[in-house]
Amino acid sequence: MQTIVPASISSTPVVLDAQHHIDLETIYGADNYHPLDVVITKGQGVWVWDTEGKKYLDCLSAYSALNQGHCHQRILLAMVEQASKVTLTSRAFRNDQLGKFYQKLSQISGLPKVLPMNSGAEAVETAIKAIRKWAYTVKGVPANQAEIIVCSNNFAGRTISIVSFSTEEQYQYGFAPFTPGFKVVPYGDAAALSAAITPNTAAFFLEPIQGEGGIMIPPDGFLKQAESICRQNNVLLVFDEIQTGLGRTGKMFAFEYEGVKPDGITIGKALSGGFYPISAFLSTNEVMDVFNPGDHGSTFGGNPLAAAIAIAALDVIVDEQLPERAAELGDYFISQLQGIASPHIEEVRGRGLLIGVELKPEAGGARRFCKALMKEGILAKETREDIIRFAPPLVITRSELDWALERIERVLMAS
Ligand SMILES: *Cc1c(COP(=O)(O)O)cnc(C)c1O
Repeated sequence: MQTIVPASISSTPVVLDAQHHIDLETIYGADNYHPLDVVITKGQGVWVWDTEGKKYLDCLSAYSALNQGHCHQRILLAMVEQASKVTLTSRAFRNDQLGKFYQKLSQISGLPKVLPMNSGAEAVETAIKAIRKWAYTVKGVPANQAEIIVCSNNFAGRTISIVSFSTEEQYQYGFAPFTPGFKVVPYGDAAALSAAITPNTAAFFLEPIQGEGGIMIPPDGFLKQAESICRQNNVLLVFDEIQTGLGRTGKMFAFEYEGVKPDGITIGKALSGGFYPISAFLSTNEVMDVFNPGDHGSTFGGNPLAAAIAIAALDVIVDEQLPERAAELGDYFISQLQGIASPHIEEVRGRGLLIGVELKPEAGGARRFCKALMKEGILAKETREDIIRFAPPLVITRSELDWALERIERVLMAS
């Protein structure tokens, strides 16, 4: 094995080729991902470049964390400016960015209260804690009996409590014992939701569209039905908008499609435009009021750097009308994809620029198509076995979509 000399102590600058970077990851890293072998060194807008300078259109957007595009100038400037002033105060003290961040998020979401965290999974953990404490202190559920109803095929992150309610065998295998208190009903099934509710049910927690589950869109009216079932039974309705939120599906939040009023939502991903891990749980006053000083927290949650970045990232979404762009360009992209007469395609579905191309079982899996797309200069990733997800940054133009469509068609038409 070759010895690796850190660039800082070698006399000549070390320029590593792609294979060398891949080898380093393989030698020193945990094997918990299966990336396509493209080593990205630069990103701007919808484009990224690899070590050889080859350019690719990013059609994954880091699972929708890059709705604003790579390295958006306005967010970058806000980040650099704040980073040169103060980055971390901890919540032991106040800072001059956090309040403005809360106010902006509250105005955008219509939910009055915000609790900031870092990763999406932490926002979900926060939601679970808020839901349970609400059940005991407001609804009057007997101690330790609170139940949360979730949907099959869900994805909400990777912590022990979150994988406890996953229905994916691999997400759970080897990680037991699990956190109790979750009940699973089929996604989009209002009758099953009704039947699952007991006096101890605290909340129904779900994605308005399942992203990792394969861009699964529930039947029209389901969110509205779920809302009324929850209201009738004094059960909270909480949406995981970490992937669907902040413009991705053609509205600021996907729940807006059915005009429902959730008691809480989790957001993350595009909340920083890809610059920084920032997430939040947002809710009504009644739910957020369960938290008292000392109940919950995070060293980095709500730090001034995160808050300044998120303010700029949200401003970009609003000022550049990214939800409207996603709606218009998404309709176009979906209809063009539906027009591709490939024998491999089972179905094209999506909302806004969150699109899944489901392949027929005999197509041999989505991964080989993702590899072929990479050769054509398009980065996309399979989700589940047979679905190619197309979710480019929302700043994409129609001509860039046409550029992609030409190549996608070529790849999907090949055998
Ligand atoms: C990505 C995702 C999460 C988890 O976010 P992390 O930042 O990876 O912890 C939770 N819910 C949904 C719907 C997601 O897509």
